[in-house]
Amino acid sequence: MSGFVFSEKPIEMVEGDGAYLYDDSGREYLDMGASYACVPLGHSHEAVRSAVLDQFDRLTYVQASYPVEVRTRLYERLAGIGPGDLDNVWLCNSGTEANEAALKFARAATGNSKIIATKLAFHGRTMGSLATTWKDKYKKPYEPLMGNVEFVDYNDPDALAAAVDEETAAVIVEPIQGEGGINPASRAFLERAREATVDAGAALVFDEVQTGMGRTGTMWACETAGVVPDMLTSAKGLGNGFPVGTTLCRDWIAENYGSHASTFSGGPVISAAAEATVSTLVETDVPGNAGEVGEYLRGQLAERLGDSIREVRGQGLMIGIEVRRGSNRVLRDLALDHGVLALPAGRTVVRLLPPLTIGREQADEVVDALETVLG
Ligand SMILES: *Cc1c(COP(=O)(O)O)cnc(C)c1O
Repeated sequence: MSGFVFSEKPIEMVEGDGAYLYDDSGREYLDMGASYACVPLGHSHEAVRSAVLDQFDRLTYVQASYPVEVRTRLYERLAGIGPGDLDNVWLCNSGTEANEAALKFARAATGNSKIIATKLAFHGRTMGSLATTWKDKYKKPYEPLMGNVEFVDYNDPDALAAAVDEETAAVIVEPIQGEGGINPASRAFLERAREATVDAGAALVFDEVQTGMGRTGTMWACETAGVVPDMLTSAKGLGNGFPVGTTLCRDWIAENYGSHASTFSGGPVISAAAEATVSTLVETDVPGNAGEVGEYLRGQLAERLGDSIREVRGQGLMIGIEVRRGSNRVLRDLALDHGVLALPAGRTVVRLLPPLTIGREQADEVVDALETVLG
């Protein structure tokens, strides 16, 4: 028997608790990847558990056209945390769908079709989002994809401004590129993207599927630059492990989005998971902890790993460590010899996206392990 598409790791996980996972032999692992940022509150979080079980007992599913109380509360929560006046909420099931919706909405609202994306970007794997993703490895076997996409250098404000014109529907940017290697956007780049899209009447879309939900020390990474987009997409950590994505939009988009829907959009149980996640993030200032522990961890990594690494990048608890050899070997040694799970971001970057609830103790644990592995 073999799983199609996914390559399997040689460890079977059977239990999760906070920042830790346990395999079938009872071995403990510190989960510094949170399975790609999907459990910002840690594994088996009590608030999410009880919200999901309560909702399951009351109403598991009803078609999306009936209002459901918990989904209405989620809409309010998301509109409340959305930057600026991004008060309109579309719910879906994943990051790629959130971006797919943003691309469709931008086309409908502007009447244009051209999309500007950035080199090294990752926006998902459905045909539209995939067309805005950079790497050929993900795209080539499936071409032709959605047309009229132009890529510009990340962090080149002039190139971006030159590419945006009267035919442009949207510019889509990750405020920190995740898959591309943990590359933070400069403030100048995001500001110029804002100016150019306003001038051309195009939509500015920030893909915060990975950077969102408090990971960078604020609810959204774009808050650091103070730039408010027309649409913001999120997913990964939104349901603390449950499949849910969102596209937040300004009024001018929501008033003219065309016709879009999805059967499972905002299902009651998924909405309960997301509502409990967002409420907990807000009420216990989880982003504040991510900012504080992230700063400590990045400081320790730079100080203690010194010349054994090239660079530490990122913000909050979205961290990339550029190592001097293949990252896969480092990740393997971390997992098997030290029980620390991390992620790659390209060939030479070790990526940390831990639960946002970790403390300095866990930060020290990963620095100790890296010191030994790289020493
Ligand atoms: C993971 C990711 C996506 C795709 O999300 P899926 O839920 O896997 O479809 C899109 N954009 C960014 C920035 C991501 O990190």
